[in-house]
Amino acid sequence: MALTSIGPALRRARKESFAVPLFDTADMQSTEGMLRAFSEKEAPGIIGLYAGMLDHPNARALAAYIRIRAEEAPFPVSLMLDHGGSPDQCRTALDYGFTDVMYDGSRLSLEENIARTRAVVEFAHERGACVEAELGQVGSGSDYQSFGARRKGFTDPDTVERFVAETGVDFLAIAVGTAHGLYDGDPQVDIELLRNIASRVDIPLALHGGTGCAEEQFRAAIASGISKVNVATDLFMAAGERMAGVAAQKSYFEFSRLAADSFCERSGYYLDLLGATGKGGPR
Ligand SMILES: [Zn+2]
Repeated sequence: MALTSIGPALRRARKESFAVPLFDTADMQSTEGMLRAFSEKEAPGIIGLYAGMLDHPNARALAAYIRIRAEEAPFPVSLMLDHGGSPDQCRTALDYGFTDVMYDGSRLSLEENIARTRAVVEFAHERGACVEAELGQVGSGSDYQSFGARRKGFTDPDTVERFVAETGVDFLAIAVGTAHGLYDGDPQVDIELLRNIASRVDIPLALHGGTGCAEEQFRAAIASGISKVNVATDLFMAAGERMAGVAAQKSYFEFSRLAADSFCERSGYYLDLLGATGKGGPR
């Protein structure tokens, strides 16, 4: 029974300077590949479901599938809502058995983001779930030249202590130079800003937009206070390429098997890179 809130593993990660990945899933194959990697690497991990997926007719069934498979995992595995768009959506995810939720109020004013995040924290904590919020705004990689590269949306370090104190949030996603999806350009993590933020609060900090970051940037970010890294695009692209390589075979079963294998391999790569390998057991 290893389905659990990722809170303890992330707090350990913050203390011991490694990071736990959140991998966004889409279906059984991607989920199976991730779970196999967590098991083989003896690592804690987070299976994320992007908020848009909650609107699909199979959302509750997919969540149930992930929950049951995670219960059978030997190490801590969390099922987390990724970028919850409203408190109601976070509540729905908890009703579906998610162990943690992210509420993304980054497009709101600071006051509104604080008020709504605090509301989510109140009902999530009652149910034993941890909450991640976003302060600053992690944009899209496709807008990187007009957004992240110009420091637009970067987290204001002077707002961090107040945000954490007034919301009671468990983890914080910050904008320090990464973006979602593929980058138009090369991402540059602002390590000074990250260190500044990490010096002000002791909760785990999350870096979104892991696809396309150089290995040295991951290492520097983790050494400077990042404890959770979100990766999605890279895993889906790698699986797509793997399947395209055998497209001529026209074998659905081969595609399905290769997809799970690819998710397992790429997940394993990130677990090693982030230092999560071997951290699934008791310390
Ligand atoms: Zn994200």
